[in-house]
Formats: sequence, structure tokens, C-alpha cells
Amino acid sequence: MGSESARPNQTLVTEVACPRCDSRVEVSMPDRDAEPTVSPTVAAFGDHTVVHCPAEHKFWVYFC
Ligand SMILES: [Zn+2]
Repeated sequence: MGSESARPNQTLVTEVACPRCDSRVEVSMPDRDAEPTVSPTVAAFGDHTVVHCPAEHKFWVYFC
């Protein structure tokens, strides 16, 4: 029996700019091929995450 070494579960993180104040905010990516698209409003498509910048602006990041 060979022992397989478990790979570290690496969290993919990217930086996006807040659409309102341009602050850089880190968001985690669902997968490495995802392309983050920042949106100031919610839209009903695809994987997305809600992000709050340091100035408390709320925006959405979509992954297509
Ligand atoms: Zn902001």
C-alpha cells in the first residue's frame, strides 16, 4: 500500500478594485480559471460573491 501525500488545499485568492473608491480587496476564487468581473449591482447569473471594501462599499464579483 502506497501512501499518498495529501495536497494542501490551496485557497485561490485574487485582488479586485472597488468600483467606487478603487480600494484593493482580496476575494477568494472558486477555481483557478475563473475570471473575476466586478459589478456594482447584483445580477442573476453565474457564480458570484459579495465583497465589502475597507470603506464599506458593497459590490459583487462574478466568475465567468
Ligand atoms: Zn470602496
